[in-house]
Amino acid sequence: MSKDSILVINCGSSSLKFAVINPGTEEEKINGIAERLGSSEAVLRWKINGEKGSQTLGLAAHEAALEGLMGLLREEGLIEGISAIGHRVVHGGENFSESCLVTDEVLEAIEDCIKLAPLHNPANLTGIRAAQKIFPGLPNAVVFDTAFHQSMPAEAYLYPIPYSLYKEQGVRRYGFHGTSYRYVGQAAADMLGLDINNSNILVAHLGNGASACAIKNGKSIDTTMGLTPLEGLVMGTRSGDVDPNLFSFLNKTLGYSLDETTDMLNKKSGLLGLSEMDSDCRVIEDAAVEGNEHAQLTLDVFCHVLAEKLAGFAAAMGKIDALVFTGGIGENSSIIRKNVIERLSIFGFELNEKLNDETFRGKSGVITQEGSTVGMVVATNEELMISRDTQALTA
Ligand code: AMP
Repeated sequence: MSKDSILVINCGSSSLKFAVINPGTEEEKINGIAERLGSSEAVLRWKINGEKGSQTLGLAAHEAALEGLMGLLREEGLIEGISAIGHRVVHGGENFSESCLVTDEVLEAIEDCIKLAPLHNPANLTGIRAAQKIFPGLPNAVVFDTAFHQSMPAEAYLYPIPYSLYKEQGVRRYGFHGTSYRYVGQAAADMLGLDINNSNILVAHLGNGASACAIKNGKSIDTTMGLTPLEGLVMGTRSGDVDPNLFSFLNKTLGYSLDETTDMLNKKSGLLGLSEMDSDCRVIEDAAVEGNEHAQLTLDVFCHVLAEKLAGFAAAMGKIDALVFTGGIGENSSIIRKNVIERLSIFGFELNEKLNDETFRGKSGVITQEGSTVGMVVATNEELMISRDTQALTA
């Protein structure tokens, strides 16, 4: 059997998402998730050939989940075909501008970045170490969410605060969703017949977490997320930009602690906090369609912030070859896309309502009129990108 597949792992603190992908044919042979890790109700769920399966894991953490996964891959006859493992890592700080093979030095550098991503990087490291143990014969590669944005110029990544905080503590804008931007930027250029090295592409990655990126000549020159994934756009439960003095205001007026305000901005704000309904865009859209004015206002705030950022990026790029929507909301919500594109008419965007309404559920394509500045949808595929990087590094 030819070793043509990559096992892609995306490890969270209590979950482990996986997929086995052939980066050459782009075939996804299996995908799934091990959930509720660390509890006695840990469970492994998967989908293979369109069929779903599941298996309880009992009291299991990441290592036991990978053992369960190994058994499953063996049963399904997939294990022999796997040549390497690719791991998603959230924060690479300034240490990593591209994907790389796992070595002791690389693990140390990821550990160094824990202070920048205290929730994510430890979980990512747990996944890598467990994979090294459970699959000792396979090489491991890491693909960072931040790496793509290391090309940003200093004027885009520096915050106007004392410079020593950047030099000594690494306080700067890093940006996230980089793997998605790299995939979507290249795919959009390919679909439009553009040379990526001579192109100006705006991407709005709108999922539960949301950010936007200006990609000039295939490189990120600006993005909305910052030191952490809280900055920038309105998200499902995250506020995006607010006045940083909110911390002291809420402390003085309501006695909120640092942790309480941090929790509020990350978990109780965004679409959820403003709408007082749900973090899911679909619920708010349904309410707005039924005439709920507050739901409509929530959507308008979301689109106002996004359009403002995209307009700023357009100025920085000097030209727009395409505006690309991706992520759960970007790929599925014709309502949000219409709202945003109409706000950007000054840049020559004219929506094609029919194409916009017909583009959802993984479909990619242009959604603007002929002669308009191009607006389009590209379904993102971060797992495929991770598998491609891993194959290139281990070939
Ligand atoms: P993601 O994080 O990329 O998986 O995106 C998840 C989000 O996509 C969900 O929270 C929904 O708000 C949003 N979403 C998915 N389908 C739709 C849809 N048909 N219309 C609007 N939003 C959607």
